[in-house]
Amino acid sequence: MYDIDATHDPELKSWVASANETGAEFPIQNLPFGRFRPAGSNGGWRIGVAIGDQVLDLRVAGVIDTDDMNALMAAKPEERQALRRRISEGLREGSGDKAAWSEALLAQAQCEFTVPCKVGDYTDFYTGIHHATTIGKLFRPDQPLMPNYKWVPIGYHGRASSIVVSGQDFKRPKGQTKAPDAAEPSYGPCKRLDYELELAFYVGAGNALGEPVPMAEAESHLFGVGLINDWSARDIQAWEYQPLGPFLSKNFASTVSPWIVTMEALAPFRSAFTRAEGDPQPLPYLDSPGNRERGQLDITVEVLLQTAKMREAGTAPHRLTKGSVAEAAYWTAAQLVAHHTVNGCNLQPGDLLGSGTLSGPTPDACGSLIELTLGGKQSIELPNGEKRTFLEDGDTLILRGWCERDGAVRIGFGEARGTVRE
Ligand code: CA
Repeated sequence: MYDIDATHDPELKSWVASANETGAEFPIQNLPFGRFRPAGSNGGWRIGVAIGDQVLDLRVAGVIDTDDMNALMAAKPEERQALRRRISEGLREGSGDKAAWSEALLAQAQCEFTVPCKVGDYTDFYTGIHHATTIGKLFRPDQPLMPNYKWVPIGYHGRASSIVVSGQDFKRPKGQTKAPDAAEPSYGPCKRLDYELELAFYVGAGNALGEPVPMAEAESHLFGVGLINDWSARDIQAWEYQPLGPFLSKNFASTVSPWIVTMEALAPFRSAFTRAEGDPQPLPYLDSPGNRERGQLDITVEVLLQTAKMREAGTAPHRLTKGSVAEAAYWTAAQLVAHHTVNGCNLQPGDLLGSGTLSGPTPDACGSLIELTLGGKQSIELPNGEKRTFLEDGDTLILRGWCERDGAVRIGFGEARGTVRE
């Protein structure tokens, strides 16, 4: 579906010098999409592509004639691929567009960003099998994984209105909780605030109501991938989640990265989808040759924490964990699309599918604090001596992601950063 082509050539360089630096997040092989405007302006949001430390205003560059990201995402894959080729050609060294496009560049540092598209519906899945197992053990030591887990991609419908972009603060939620030894529930601020490291899969072209998307076409309905932190109030969650699942413990804020890395950009970073021996093979509607060959995404993700004290002392954020998406995810993005629509449910351009918490098999790859601290029983110590079981006011949490492979240029996702306020 998404093949390696001239836009992925590792020899390609851009006339935007910062894009050619080793380890750059946004080299010319990446070209992720976002919505921006000059910082402090009241103008409308514009569609841009990140290149080095700059953003290219696609409308000013004359490449598109819309400010509607969702309309652009709904385009057919061949139209999207043509747009990617056009942007790549205009930004590469020696391009005749350099003089005109230089006028369409803004420094990212002088821009503000918003959620990269209008998210109509947000569904959160639960594809991280190590996360599901560790969490399950806390609640059900004898049967950590529910019997359906290896057969059906588990998910629930989340809330789109509280999705915010990286850099925005949010208030610690208040709500109803009940300690295990308390006779009655009480009301107050969440005491067990956590993060969840997830990928955000953005839907491109939708499907009509009543018409499921088959596996062979599932990836053509995906526009790209970003990072999402599904902030979670564990004490509220523990009291409210039965029988209908999480509700107010999840919908107070979810932080996304400003950029959508396209499925095209990810073409060099794919790997096989396999099942461990003894695990059931996916049912036929969740299986395809393409998915078996290269359904997984080779993305490395990490979580960093900077407390208010660290910030005051000028200490850099401390990495809590780092892990591999392919190792963590039990289901692929294509399987989530096929499963979501199998009953005829219609997806629409800009819909967001969360992967679920992506934890690796070891503690240094945990995607949440509830796992890292064994349900809050064992605190972690930070380099400055501070301790954490759950997040405190003033804590900033940062998710980062990137793809790296021999024969390809490294591409980054940017970051999803959020700070908890009282
Ligand atoms: Ca989640």
